[in-house]
Amino acid sequence: MVYDVIVVGGSFAGMSAALQLARARQHVLLIDAGLPRNRFADAAHGFLGHDGRPPMAIMREARHQLQRYPTAEILVGEAKNASAIEDGFVIGLASGGKRRARRLVLATGVADELPAIPGMRERWGATVLHCPYCHGYEIRDHPLGVIANHAMSAHQAVLVPDWGPTTYFTQGQFEPDIADLRAFAARGIAVERTPVVELLGEAPALDGVRLADGRIIELAAVFTAPRTRPASPLASQLGCAHEEGSTGPYVKVDQGGVTTVSGVWAAGDTATPMHNATLASAGGVLAGVGAHQASVRATIV
Ligand SMILES: Cc1cc2nc3c(=O)[nH]c(=O)nc-3n(C[C@H](O)[C@H](O)[C@H](O)COP(=O)(O)OP(=O)(O)OC[C@H]3O[C@@H](n4cnc5c(N)ncnc54)[C@H](O)[C@@H]3O)c2cc1C
Repeated sequence: MVYDVIVVGGSFAGMSAALQLARARQHVLLIDAGLPRNRFADAAHGFLGHDGRPPMAIMREARHQLQRYPTAEILVGEAKNASAIEDGFVIGLASGGKRRARRLVLATGVADELPAIPGMRERWGATVLHCPYCHGYEIRDHPLGVIANHAMSAHQAVLVPDWGPTTYFTQGQFEPDIADLRAFAARGIAVERTPVVELLGEAPALDGVRLADGRIIELAAVFTAPRTRPASPLASQLGCAHEEGSTGPYVKVDQGGVTTVSGVWAAGDTATPMHNATLASAGGVLAGVGAHQASVRATIV
């Protein structure tokens, strides 16, 4: 069978794309490995109608709703490779076998690379956080840290005092400039220049951080901005151009999610530097609608 569209990645972006396509009665195959980026958090926040729900519960419900459409099919597994053929694309599956479609939507997300500080990984999504809008409210009014790991970390730090008293850790690498220091003073942010070498307490709880000179600073949570990279090589295999965002590369798309390769759309975290479930879902809607409208145009000669 040749599908109208294969959507790779079945989280906020991919399922939103597939839902539009299924409702447009397109034969859509959703291939998903089942590892959404926010799976490390107990709850997702700020996603309308689902605030505070476990991410996997949101995914289960969305999948259940998608399966009600007779032209939608879900394949649980990994798409290993993608190539263009004369009238569409072939996706090779990690489990063996291939699937063909006229068009592709890539919604494969990004992978996070946390700073190499002992104690970070086991607290990721609980007390080591990337986004105060997503998880700041839950740790409000406690002492908080921002562990700098790229040039935008000072910007992140300026936001955090609205959730709790904040210390900015330069890690000896990301010294605030004069404008940053002025903003820090206005926001009451302390600056600590001795690097954090370890996170302390019984994970996933955080009691504080140990500095290289042995001092301990009590904190209830820290924010950091991990480097990101595409979670899947499919876009690169197809020759899609990428752009460089503040945390890492992402697939270049236009406002409708069209990549630089004809017949391929991309949506969600993999196609934007702004990482948020609602934005990913909106990107998926645009990509799904775009892929459907391209199939309509293809019938008009
Ligand atoms: C710890 C943490 C907590 C967060 N909390 C929030 C929050 O509270 N609110 C909020 O708005 N945002 C939050 N975010 C951001 C949010 O998780 C992302 O913006 C959102 O998940 C992006 O959705 P997506 O569909 O683009 O990608 P993802 O959710 O990452 O999903 C990608 C999907 O594609 C699949 N996939 C990847 N490659 C392949 C392949 N080759 N074959 C098959 N399947 C594949 C993956 O398994 C996964 O299911 C959080 C992020 C993190 C890291």
